Amino acid sequence: MLLAQLNNNYIQKKQKLIQFLRKMIQKVTMYQAVCDGCGRPCAEPYGFTAWATPESASIAAWESGWMTINHELYCPDCVEVDEEMDSYKPKEKKQ
Ligand SMILES: [Zn+2]
Repeated sequence: MLLAQLNNNYIQKKQKLIQFLRKMIQKVTMYQAVCDGCGRPCAEPYGFTAWATPESASIAAWESGWMTINHELYCPDCVEVDEEMDSYKPKEKKQ
């Protein structure tokens, strides 16, 4: 009898906690930079995976070595040196 009552109290407290957490936690929209070459999202290995604005996602990508070439964004794996132009170019896609 006592054990059943303790169990009921525990369940009621747990349900109240879940209701409380639902009030203080909300779903939000976040942004990631995505490579136009391979489609991989830019995410720090042990850090942020999304940012609050598109601009901050772009800045994080550039700080991680990503490049904008002809209005497209590329990860370091998808660019190569363009010796003719002395700059970088997107790698040819392998089919
Ligand atoms: Zn890529």
